[in-house]
Amino acid sequence: MPTYKAPLREFQFLYRDVLHIEQHGNLPAFAEAPLDLIEQILEEGGKFCENVLAPLNIVGDHEGCKRHPDGSVTTPTGFKDAYKQLVEGGWPALGSDPAFGGQGLPHVVSLAWNEMVSSANMAFGMYPGLSHGAYEAIHHHGSDEQRATYLPKMVTGEWTGTMNLTEPHCGTDLGLLRTKAVPQADGSYRITGQKIFISAGEHDLAENIIHLVIARIEGAPAGTKGISLFVVPKFLVNADGSLGKRNGVVCGKIEEKMGIHGNATCVLNYDDAVGFLCGQENKGLNAMFTMMNVARLGVGMQGLAQSEAAYQNAAIYAKDRLQGRSLTGAKNPDGPADPIIVHPDVRRMLMDARAFNEGARCFTFWTALHGDMLTYSQDEKTKEKAGDYMALMTPVLKGYLTDKGYANATNCQQIYGGHGYIEEWGMSQFVRDARIAQIYEGANGIQALDLVGRKLAANGGRAVFTFFNEIDAFIGDNADDPKMKPFVEALGGAKAQLQDGTMWMMQNGMSNFDNAGAASHDYLHLFGLTALAYMWALMAKAAFMAKAGKADLFYDAKIAVGRHYIERVLPDTGAHLAKLKTGAGTLMALPAEAF
Ligand SMILES: Cc1cc2nc3c(=O)[nH]c(=O)nc-3n(C[C@H](O)[C@H](O)[C@H](O)COP(=O)(O)OP(=O)(O)OC[C@H]3O[C@@H](n4cnc5c(N)ncnc54)[C@H](O)[C@@H]3O)c2cc1C
Repeated sequence: MPTYKAPLREFQFLYRDVLHIEQHGNLPAFAEAPLDLIEQILEEGGKFCENVLAPLNIVGDHEGCKRHPDGSVTTPTGFKDAYKQLVEGGWPALGSDPAFGGQGLPHVVSLAWNEMVSSANMAFGMYPGLSHGAYEAIHHHGSDEQRATYLPKMVTGEWTGTMNLTEPHCGTDLGLLRTKAVPQADGSYRITGQKIFISAGEHDLAENIIHLVIARIEGAPAGTKGISLFVVPKFLVNADGSLGKRNGVVCGKIEEKMGIHGNATCVLNYDDAVGFLCGQENKGLNAMFTMMNVARLGVGMQGLAQSEAAYQNAAIYAKDRLQGRSLTGAKNPDGPADPIIVHPDVRRMLMDARAFNEGARCFTFWTALHGDMLTYSQDEKTKEKAGDYMALMTPVLKGYLTDKGYANATNCQQIYGGHGYIEEWGMSQFVRDARIAQIYEGANGIQALDLVGRKLAANGGRAVFTFFNEIDAFIGDNADDPKMKPFVEALGGAKAQLQDGTMWMMQNGMSNFDNAGAASHDYLHLFGLTALAYMWALMAKAAFMAKAGKADLFYDAKIAVGRHYIERVLPDTGAHLAKLKTGAGTLMALPAEAF
């Protein structure tokens, strides 16, 4: 059975040595959470993930969720008790607003908790994960009454939340949605329609489920301009806060799927269900994006989390499994063979995964810290940059981290040879679970289009040019440090390629939109690779400073893994740049009937 160890030392390194989060102690969320306290909280959370959630991962995969004839759903053995412990421990409240009972910790802290939960048990983590997205939508767009009615129970986790966009004929293109909302005399609406693939749509973990549903109000314009967002509770809530009548929303089916079996992916049938408008009429998509941006960072994190869990197990296996001899002479001469970790090709897969995991973690934390600046800083310039970076980096994080997370999970499975393909080892589950993160929350192709179509051009390219300037400043500050030379040179090269790709996009994408679409995937990967090169340069600098010339296994390993990244992962930028510059040519050459 796979195991999981919370990467607490990695968190500590990022908080203390790289991001120096103590320097933000003057901001509200940070003032209440000194570093020692944050680390204690994460240590406790780590134990919960290691001891309670991780052992249930394989149980959830094997058992899945069960729908009963009345539409109720039972989660796998142990999930209900684990969820009770989660609520009793106050974990769902970590990053939520104290005004509604939350603990108000910075996002950069709650993200570490989310990573641990997702590594330990991704399917379980989606119940509180989706709830937090729904919480954000009501928090930002709901009325005072809605906030007071729903948020306190959602913050504690007593009630969970969902997001309902997808319909059978309407996935990426939400303008096609058919679910309708009919206004009632009392100001409420009646919602009718079918939503599919709804994560955590029905279950036995919480006493109420607050569905956030997009629908079209009768008479509203066609397309995305006529979409409104509604709060549709499974049980209506009485004026005194107690649970009232069962609402007209029922789980019609649970989908049979490739992975995350422990999470109930539901067909939800809405039949004259009572719903309440959340935010403004016909502005539902904007409101939904609040939820989706939070969710997209969470999904990017899922890619990293599965890669981390798969790496940890593959590293243990590679030190244990004896096959063949080292090419440079036996390393385990008293044994019948050497452990497979002596083989360079096995090392390649381990090092690729590790270099990704550590770089990707730094990237998510760095971005989350900008998210905290956006929320808490009083300085207009800081807020503007933070907002720009959040918008620009969200599709990169979602798309790049989930593509690479899946690829690494597969490579770690490869390290197990045939045993990786056998279910009892659990490696196949990491691969199957990781796969969905590339698809939902906007398939990765759509993330790439969002990056090149919306985010690059916003405010005349202000965000991407700020990023380039930041990298240039770092290179300038560190160019004379011989220890940093390889990192600075590699970063400079990657940034020059990204800048080249950006200029190509601006010149060729506008004249022929198919060029932009054709180049978008490679551009997103070029961006992701360069962003991680910057993260590795920041981490290398921090490691050199912390080790202060002395040998230290942790910091020396950090620098060695960083060298691996720049020498053996980063060169992929060249291939992506070359491919993106070919534009739409070969992709669009064949007429559709030739396929
Ligand atoms: C396990 C699971 C859980 C899910 N959870 C939820 C949930 O909780 N709530 C919810 O609302 N939905 C959920 N979804 C739905 C998910 O978000 C959608 O499946 C996803 O957004 C893609 O929509 P689609 O499946 O209809 O694919 P389509 O939109 O049909 O897309 C098919 C392919 O075409 C590409 N494509 C489509 N349009 C374009 C375009 N304009 N340009 C370029 N490429 C394009 C896409 O990238 C994709 O590769 C879930 C799905 C699954 C499988």
